[in-house]
Amino acid sequence: MELRNWAGNIRFSADRVHHPESVGQVQEIVRESQQVHVLGSRHSFNTIADSTGDLMSLDRLEPVLEVDAQRRQITIDGAVTYGRLAPRVCEAGFALHNTASLPHITVSGACATATHGSGSRNSILASRVAAIEIVTADGAVRTLSRADDGDRFAGAVVGLGGLGVVTRLTLDVSPTFDMYQVVYENLPLAQVEEHFEAIMSSGYSVSLFSDWRESRFNQAWIKTVATSADAVSAAPTFYGATLATTDMHPLPTLDPTTCTPQMGVVGPWHERLPHFRAEFEPSYGEELQSEYFVPRAQAPAALRAIASMRGEVAPLLQMSEVRTIAADDLWMSPFYRRDCAALHFTWRYDWDGVKQLLPRIEGRLAPFDARPHWGKLFTMPAATLQSRYERLPDFRALLESFDAKGKFRNSFLETYVFG
Ligand SMILES: Cc1cc2nc3c(=O)[nH]c(=O)nc-3n(C[C@H](O)[C@H](O)[C@H](O)COP(=O)(O)OP(=O)(O)OC[C@H]3O[C@@H](n4cnc5c(N)ncnc54)[C@H](O)[C@@H]3O)c2cc1C
Repeated sequence: MELRNWAGNIRFSADRVHHPESVGQVQEIVRESQQVHVLGSRHSFNTIADSTGDLMSLDRLEPVLEVDAQRRQITIDGAVTYGRLAPRVCEAGFALHNTASLPHITVSGACATATHGSGSRNSILASRVAAIEIVTADGAVRTLSRADDGDRFAGAVVGLGGLGVVTRLTLDVSPTFDMYQVVYENLPLAQVEEHFEAIMSSGYSVSLFSDWRESRFNQAWIKTVATSADAVSAAPTFYGATLATTDMHPLPTLDPTTCTPQMGVVGPWHERLPHFRAEFEPSYGEELQSEYFVPRAQAPAALRAIASMRGEVAPLLQMSEVRTIAADDLWMSPFYRRDCAALHFTWRYDWDGVKQLLPRIEGRLAPFDARPHWGKLFTMPAATLQSRYERLPDFRALLESFDAKGKFRNSFLETYVFG
């Protein structure tokens, strides 16, 4: 049967997909395979999860959720999605510090690609990984931890699927908290350029959405930690934008019932941090995505650069989103030692058109040393991308030390890491 990624734009090359039910079976499959790669929930838009050898899905792996309340850590299996995990973490009295816009992705896949949410003080989801259990190329089970493996651990967490099969992760958690979100409409671009830091720090997590048809953001979503259970009435205006009077979808023509509740209504963190509800299939059918990360201080200039290409961008665009992410120490994270702003594009399903436009966007963002999202579409040459990752040589050596024969390598890794 033909296997594709979530968006349908990538057809996986492997003939065989294994579905191990235990770590022992994972070890056996790895030992017997010449070439293998792990699939998460297949939400990446490029070939990062592909393999011409075998593929392995962990969707039948025994679920694990161990809570260590004293250490404020949880240990989970390598297959769980945020949508399945988050309510159980909340029930246990804890919270994850942040989530992506979509809860349907796996924790392992999100960590492997440096997936992020928003929040000027929130680092990527992988930054809370305290330990990983990996089945390596020789079929052995190894555990790496922040406490014992120091810098090598920082190299392994955003692993791009190249180190082996992550079968368990231990994550730091915090005490559970409640949140509310409000949406403002029609935020002028000039205000964002002038007050970028203040606007993006006005909540725990802030997202700005623009279709780039005009010099404005159609919506600003502001997610705030609640101090009481009462619904909050927000100020009627925000830097020239107006408070929405009903729940919104980032794409204004779509039904907001698939989105997490807004209008200042207080609820648990996992029902406010993602934009989309776990119980609905999100988004607008077919779409493609790209995202570039620039140093936060240069965000206003980067936004001006995109605004100057509005005429080219808008016709191919469904919606663009701007977020902020705090720096971390993970070697292959685009946020390595760099506070960033993220410029995201949800494109119409037109790869021919998008493929022509991306080099132009990448050219405009080159002065900012823009790094692309590992799981989305980009066109920059491998050499350019590599020049923007100072720890890439160390990562290459780490992969070689784990997997000398390249069992977990695929064409994506050959191109962008080893090419
Ligand atoms: C609608 C939509 C919304 C999105 N929103 C966001 C967002 O808000 N923020 C953001 O940063 N990104 C976002 N993304 C991108 C997404 O988070 C990444 O593509 C992420 O990697 C998807 O996780 P996955 O489980 O689908 O992994 P896959 O795409 O299946 O795999 C990605 C990589 O992870 C590796 N991997 C997966 N599981 C394991 C494992 N157990 N062991 C070893 N390697 C493994 C794979 O081998 C592959 O290299 C979004 C994508 C979509 C489709």
